[in-house]
Amino acid sequence: MSAKLTTRELEILKLLTEGKSNREITVELNIKDQTVKNILNKLFLKLGVTNRTQAAVKAIKENIGSRMAIKIKKEDTMATAYCMKCRKKVEIKNPTQITLKNDRPAVQGVCPVCGTKVLRVGKL
Ligand SMILES: [Zn+2]
Repeated sequence: MSAKLTTRELEILKLLTEGKSNREITVELNIKDQTVKNILNKLFLKLGVTNRTQAAVKAIKENIGSRMAIKIKKEDTMATAYCMKCRKKVEIKNPTQITLKNDRPAVQGVCPVCGTKVLRVGKL
């Protein structure tokens, strides 16, 4: 494996090895259909394959699974934000990528517990 995969790519690759469809991936990772397609295209390119089956086979063969488990565990891949009302970090429900006034990317959504709008600086 020469190409370095991002956490997101690894996540999707893992789901591919589990035989998940694009639809299921969008639900599981809470991302858009088009985003999944874009990531898959990049992933195929990096792995040097042309379809999801080949990608899954390659992932299993090269034991990418164990490596991704480590990487995913290390990084907090969940989009989380601080809810002012709950006074704790919560998972962002319906996260949307937005751009702040200062041109910085942020993730906006609602608190799954109380429904308050939450915001986190950074990318999805
Ligand atoms: Zn809350």
